[in-house]
Amino acid sequence: MSVNGLAPLSRRTFLALGATFVVAACSTSDGSSRDSSSTEPSATTGPVPAVDLPTDPFTLGVASGDPTATSVIIWTRLAPDPLTGGGMPDSDVDVLWEVSNDDEFSSILVSGITRAEVAYAHSVHVDVSLADRSPDADPWVYFRFSIGEWTSPIGRTRCAPASGTSETLTLATASCQNWTHGYYNAYADMREQSPDLVVFLGDYIYEGGPGNLANGDIRLHNSDEVTSIVDYRNRYALYRSDPYLSAAHAMCPWVVIWDDHEVDNNYAGLVSQDAESPNAPTDEEFTSRRADAYQVWWEHMPVRMAPPRNADLQIYRQISWGSLVNMAAIDGRQYRDDQACGDAVLQTEPACDDASIESRSMLGTVQEQWLVDTLSSGDAIWNVIANQTVMTDIRLGEAVLNFDQWDGYAPSRDRIMSGLSDKGVDNLVVLTGDIHLAGIGKLTTATEPDTVRGVEFVTTSISSNGNVPEGSEALFIALPTIVDAEIQHRGYTLHTVTPQEWTAEYRIVEDNTIENSPVSPWKRFVVRAGSSDVESV
Ligand code: FE
Ligand code: CA
Repeated sequence: MSVNGLAPLSRRTFLALGATFVVAACSTSDGSSRDSSSTEPSATTGPVPAVDLPTDPFTLGVASGDPTATSVIIWTRLAPDPLTGGGMPDSDVDVLWEVSNDDEFSSILVSGITRAEVAYAHSVHVDVSLADRSPDADPWVYFRFSIGEWTSPIGRTRCAPASGTSETLTLATASCQNWTHGYYNAYADMREQSPDLVVFLGDYIYEGGPGNLANGDIRLHNSDEVTSIVDYRNRYALYRSDPYLSAAHAMCPWVVIWDDHEVDNNYAGLVSQDAESPNAPTDEEFTSRRADAYQVWWEHMPVRMAPPRNADLQIYRQISWGSLVNMAAIDGRQYRDDQACGDAVLQTEPACDDASIESRSMLGTVQEQWLVDTLSSGDAIWNVIANQTVMTDIRLGEAVLNFDQWDGYAPSRDRIMSGLSDKGVDNLVVLTGDIHLAGIGKLTTATEPDTVRGVEFVTTSISSNGNVPEGSEALFIALPTIVDAEIQHRGYTLHTVTPQEWTAEYRIVEDNTIENSPVSPWKRFVVRAGSSDVESV
């Protein structure tokens, strides 16, 4: 099966495939499931929308995400000229989407026409219902989009298993993919491993300037620091032009959350990182920049949410995977209080008093409560948080090494940990990125540091350079909360989840400054359901 690099089909080929008139064959009048292998068309939805485009508009590939037990979001964006604004005409256009049991589209399961709007950079998000498929059908389906004479690459996706089932889940976590620092070798390996789901934990783009090959960057960004809506769009398009990233989006559904670099390094709520500098943006300027960045993130991600209507966008949401996993995907940026103590890093003196103010929050009051409520609802075996910054307590006595992480919001963390324990939430696994290293931590509270309430698997960066001093592994591993750490390598984490065990295999790239450098396991760690011990196997 090929999910990328597929040559665009000509209109003639497309006609020959008999797909000009598409069928929506999912629903039956009596509501029973249809045989998913049937090729019997039951309805037509119309021809491929006609529009004249000078070149292939499907340069950014396809993606899917946020599966439920009965539906999944499929995504594309029309951009014949992706690096300079997109190159589409200044009008909304219609796009045909089709979902099939097979990658030759010999049997169309469901299809329709959707509108790609100028206002959202001609991006397309379709919520595809597969509710009427037979429960025995292969969960994987294939999708594509067509407009005029052009047809997109083929994507492969699936719904989540139904509640009540607990088949094995393979799940890849990834974060921090600075284009300038290294190649996306991790995604080449991820595609070979073929997980059911990718969870991306933030820093999808980096907002900074072009970089510098003389300083060790391996490729350059396409502009100065991005601040305008067009800049952000061109930056996402640059990242998606990487064939490994694009192919990874075409292989399975993703759940994507953002961290800081999708807007501005270390911003907090509506406070920019430059808030205290002489050239600080005004409140209006930063609010507008954040709104643009949020919109462009939405335009490029296969997410189940309405487009932003104002400066805010709620991305925290629940993802269920049968009765195996109940996941809360959270937003640690938009609602946080500003970092305490001047956002100092690697400072070993006791933290200033602000860090321990009870009311300070990483998630905001509403989301904190939502998180506890979400993880204490339902009957899934594993309760999971898809999270941005390190949650394990790595304070050195009174010192906070990084005020941007949960250590800088310790009262907020303690409220959540205690709230979850009070509601009997067990088998807690926190999936984290941000810090560009691999780490395995035990979650505790300040008042009961010996009670382990869950396990944190911190994935290393896809490509962003390490940002803690070399040789500091020993310092981390010496902490009682840290099981193990590896700071030298880039990569991702491949999790295999069964009702009995959660296994996290850390897969690392030998030398990420070299294209096609090999990827191999560093170590594997196992947590058994009912226990909070984590061990290397
Ligand atoms: Fe990062
Ligand atoms: Ca970050």
